[in-house]
Amino acid sequence: MGRRIGVMGGTFDPIHYGHLVTAEEALHQFSLDEVLFVPTGRPWMKEHDVVSPAEDRYLMTVIATASNPRFAVSRMEVDRDGPTYTVETLRSLKAELGPDTQLFFITGADAVLEIVQWKEPEELFDLAHFIAATRPGYDLASFEAHAPLAHPGITVMHIPALAISSTDIRGRVRQGRPIRYLVPEGVNSYVQKAGLYR
Ligand code: ATP
Ligand code: MG
Repeated sequence: MGRRIGVMGGTFDPIHYGHLVTAEEALHQFSLDEVLFVPTGRPWMKEHDVVSPAEDRYLMTVIATASNPRFAVSRMEVDRDGPTYTVETLRSLKAELGPDTQLFFITGADAVLEIVQWKEPEELFDLAHFIAATRPGYDLASFEAHAPLAHPGITVMHIPALAISSTDIRGRVRQGRPIRYLVPEGVNSYVQKAGLYR
């Protein structure tokens, strides 16, 4: 039997408990062998925003996932030049892991709707099955009526609601408010130590 690998792409600026709960729940609900976190290099949809250096985002992702034996982190997108495209990442992973490995791309309810804007959406569905996690503030009930979510290549996954976002965390740091218990302790320390989001 082939392996079932979850792929969790994200900017992870910073990684927070919303990401970790989503990955753990996908591991359980879809009987995955492992979840591979793939921090983006330069995210093409966020070209106009200021994004922290890829190395900082990669290291925070490693720190946050270190204690889970079924979580791993890939440098694939971080080490690649130019904008990041999920289709290219899935293509390389598929080539690397072989045809027996089944890929599951894990996204939040907000990100899955961007799929339609992605390059070559039909090839994406050939490469991986898409898992769309419920996320507070993004109404999946109306999304489910939305054409892309009716696609057989996407399954909606209900997870415990965590109204946490990296945008909110960055704002909190800027305003000197706490982020402890929204992110793993090591990530909190890293943010302070590297002076991120000031
Ligand atoms: P930002 O506010 O900077 O966009 P974010 O919190 O949305 O950050 P991303 O790195 O953009 O985090 O997200 C990576 C993936 O994790 C996306 O698919 C996103 O939908 C999903 N995700 C992030 N936070 C949550 C959450 N609280 N619940 C469910 N899914 C989430
Ligand atoms: Mg986001």
